[in-house]
Amino acid sequence: MAEDANPFESLQSQIDEAATHIDVADDVIERLKYPERVLETNLTVELDDGTLERFKAFRSQFNGDRGPYKGGIRYHPQVSRDEVKALSGWMTYKTAIVDIPLGGGKGGIVIDPDNYSESELERVTRTFATELRPLIGEDRDVPAPDVNTGQREMNWIKDTYETLENTTEPGVITGKNLASGGSEGRVEATGRSTVLAAREAFDYLDKDLEGATVAVQGYGNAGWIAAKLIDEMGATVVAASDSSGGIYNPDGFDPVAAKDHKNETGSIVGYEESEEEITNEDVLTMDVDLLIPAALENAIDADLAEAVEADVISEAANGPLTPAADEVLEGKDVFVIPDILANAGGVTVSYFEWVQNRDRFYWSEEKVNEELEGHIVNAFDALVETYEEHNLDNPRTAAYVVAIQRVANSFEESGSWP
Ligand code: GLU
Repeated sequence: MAEDANPFESLQSQIDEAATHIDVADDVIERLKYPERVLETNLTVELDDGTLERFKAFRSQFNGDRGPYKGGIRYHPQVSRDEVKALSGWMTYKTAIVDIPLGGGKGGIVIDPDNYSESELERVTRTFATELRPLIGEDRDVPAPDVNTGQREMNWIKDTYETLENTTEPGVITGKNLASGGSEGRVEATGRSTVLAAREAFDYLDKDLEGATVAVQGYGNAGWIAAKLIDEMGATVVAASDSSGGIYNPDGFDPVAAKDHKNETGSIVGYEESEEEITNEDVLTMDVDLLIPAALENAIDADLAEAVEADVISEAANGPLTPAADEVLEGKDVFVIPDILANAGGVTVSYFEWVQNRDRFYWSEEKVNEELEGHIVNAFDALVETYEEHNLDNPRTAAYVVAIQRVANSFEESGSWP
């Protein structure tokens, strides 16, 4: 990881930057820079050997002006209060830019899941779900997967909540597997929005996606699906990395076979179609048409940004550029599709899952993908309209202008009470 920008400060500076271009009062902007509340809790969990361990955990409910708080729960040793607060803010503006009736939230547990057995992880998850129980609910706060969590954890949380509440409420959480009330297309949704947004950007910039070269940093759920889908659209994935290192082939490689290799060996490194082993930094600074950062925050700082050679960046990760990096890239005319749009597919299909759960009526994968495409294309069009109308230099600022305006409108229209 590059320079350690505080992600909460990054969020606030992004809001401040956008605020200079909109007609929203300063006191309302002030409200939109802080979470409404943050739960900090200590989970005491019995390990397999009978000893107890304490895990710190958080849930930040940033803003509920447009609907129930919405956002994932991550398991990572570097989870912190400020990180969770920032991520919950990004969720608020993400749900607003894609115009779904939800607010923003985020949670996390300070844990490296690789060091624990499945039954230990189940106890950690159920203990957290018990702590969250009074705060969550399909009309209150709806968690979802994030870094190092997936269907398994979501199913545990749903089961814990429903058991304690003596009810059936699948919409209390999204990202479940199909048997537990999940949606078709949810697993692929984040990567799908990253490439749909890239397709729209290429079109806008009059660039050809067919034959375009692509580098993908991070080969988890978002990164590898983005690699697969962009390859299907005719682009050529030439480089990718995961936490162990990177692979490179100037003629491109098969992203699905690279993923199979990772499933078998734990990493994409060593994949036979790779001509050269490269570093994570090499991937981020490669001379490609499209760069997809799909790992954690702060992957690119100002120094690294000087070396970036991509023409377009589609942010599959949350917060991969520091604000200083953003400024450098703006100066170099790199078109950055911001995270709040580029990775919004995950929460958009979470919204569809929630709708299906409430209706007890389930959609085909085709319908999910079609609806998702509509939301991403509309969001991109709104971004471009604002980008041009305000003569902005940075697409991220345009996205925040649209999103902040929408959240502020909801707040202002509801009046003051008491
Ligand atoms: N964790 C994902 C995100 O950062 C998905 C959140 C959700 O589906 O609520 O957008």
